[in-house]
Amino acid sequence: MTKFEELGLQDSLLRAIQDMGFETPSEVQEKAIPLLLSEETDIVALAQTGTGKTAAFGFPLIQKINADSRTTQGLILSPTRELCLQITNELKSYSKYENINVVAIYGGASITDQAKQVKKGAQIVVATPGRMQDMINRRMVDITKIEYCVLDEADEMLNMGFYEDITSILSHTPEDKSTWLFSATMPREVSVIAQEFMFEPKEITVGSRNSGSDSVRHEFYAVSGRDRYLALKRLADANPDIFSVVFCRTKRDTQSVAEKLIEDGYSAGALHGDLSQNQRDLVMKSFRTRQIQMLVATDVAARGIDVDDITHVINYQLPDEVETYTHRSGRTGRAGKKGVSMVIVTKSEMRKIKSVERKIQKKFEQKNIPTGIEICQIQLFHLANKIHNTEANEQVNEYLPKIMEIFDDTSKEELIKRMVSVEFNRFYNYYKNKRDLNQPKGNNEDRGSRGKSNEHSTRYFINVGSKDGYDWMRLKDFLKETLSLGRDDVYKVDVKESFSFFNTDNDKKEQVLAHFTDFKVDGRFVNVEESTNSGGGGGRRRRDRDGGGRRRRDGGGNGGDRRRSRRSENKSSSNGGRRRRSDNGGGNERFRGRSRRK
Ligand code: ADP
Ligand code: MG
Repeated sequence: MTKFEELGLQDSLLRAIQDMGFETPSEVQEKAIPLLLSEETDIVALAQTGTGKTAAFGFPLIQKINADSRTTQGLILSPTRELCLQITNELKSYSKYENINVVAIYGGASITDQAKQVKKGAQIVVATPGRMQDMINRRMVDITKIEYCVLDEADEMLNMGFYEDITSILSHTPEDKSTWLFSATMPREVSVIAQEFMFEPKEITVGSRNSGSDSVRHEFYAVSGRDRYLALKRLADANPDIFSVVFCRTKRDTQSVAEKLIEDGYSAGALHGDLSQNQRDLVMKSFRTRQIQMLVATDVAARGIDVDDITHVINYQLPDEVETYTHRSGRTGRAGKKGVSMVIVTKSEMRKIKSVERKIQKKFEQKNIPTGIEICQIQLFHLANKIHNTEANEQVNEYLPKIMEIFDDTSKEELIKRMVSVEFNRFYNYYKNKRDLNQPKGNNEDRGSRGKSNEHSTRYFINVGSKDGYDWMRLKDFLKETLSLGRDDVYKVDVKESFSFFNTDNDKKEQVLAHFTDFKVDGRFVNVEESTNSGGGGGRRRRDRDGGGRRRRDGGGNGGDRRRSRRSENKSSSNGGRRRRSDNGGGNERFRGRSRRK
């Protein structure tokens, strides 16, 4: 096994490493450090989260910095304030035996204070792209003489839309600097950066490209969209010692899931961008100290999280980007521990599981949401073990004789029975009559939502679509809000180019239709009508899709008229869709529908 001493690091760094308690270099460190120390080269290093990338660039950077000069020589760009501070702190401890100033530059704090620190002489600047750009514009920082530029978590930065900022920042740096790019994954956007801004970069890959960490098991659970929250609760209840991050897509979902969990008695907390920095710090502190067992977070807010021992990552919803999934699941299975990444999906999202599988080159295991009775069993044994392993408190001794008297007439067996019942009753009473949440498995997974009863549900047509800026989430949010409906009252939202479909339960029908009489948004009538396509599961979805494709071919037309003609077409295409399905088989038709929409 290679030792830190063999990598070419100077004594002061080796001493700092010893102080930090690092014993052997991680793989990415072992590969990157000697290379960066011995050559002036650009590199692209790909390694999972938690593999020690900070030190992989941090040690060589510190060693290469000239401490006698006050010029800014190294720039590190990182996606979030949290990471920025984390890197800064790490670099400070690496360089404790050197005279090097590391200054953090990030949004949400006083820019003048940061400028002052830079002015004092910052050999290394660690910055988020937005604030960095800002300070460059205000001439508060000079990066025209840097020798090293590190792009840390490059994929995250690009995910977050920092491409423009990064290219603009790089344009202020010297041509002949070395660029070190670190990333957990290698999406196309990252290779673009590597191609455009780097010169013959050496590549370091730890583990296989894009693959999730081996210590993480991937599971998915298929439920009806309206049962997401109940499913989440069951997953938590079936894992009594859970210490997890629950990822939601929107701030609003994040907040409301956390609130519901708290209401339902879980130790949960929300972490998202609408909270003040102070609130976020508090939540993170409670999480780190395990006062919070379930941290419900958005992807952006969770980026800085560096907490080991997370047992489960729960994808309350799947993210849009497969890369994001990799980051989510990388929060668990760190530091040699095992972790589980669970995904709650609806039937219509199942194909996304396939594309994640392809990307991470790992198979998901489809698991069942535990039934009420299974949860009761798990909790019962958990409780029994807990009692068995509890260290007795000597303080109770003086009361023991009296207590023994109380139990004088009770056998050991009876006593145990009653003892576990005390807590068990809570679960039992909650779960005793609860239904199975699992979606019935059809013989073909891709069959859409077959099996879900449709008698209780109404399908609507609405004359807004993707060209009005809606995707299914936005449209769902819009509908929930204008109709003052609950989280799960609007479902099966299917957005086409200029119109969309959605469902509610029948009992909401009057309310929905009444609300959208003479309803205008931005001066335009938004019209909702009951769709004729309220028929059976999988077939219906496919017909909708087919309608979309057909419409495109005919093109043309204007305004309301166009809409009407499209609609009636969509109606008639219902039959076409059905006919063709039996002619050609489902897969074929789906493929055509999709490619046509492009
Ligand atoms: P990454 O940037 O790859 O996600 P980090 O650099 O944040 O990972 O490191 C993850 C954790 O591992 C940190 O707590 C860091 O202090 C620790 N660490 C890094 N290198 C080593 C090492 N060689 N030995 C022990 N711990 C390490
Ligand atoms: Mg990192």
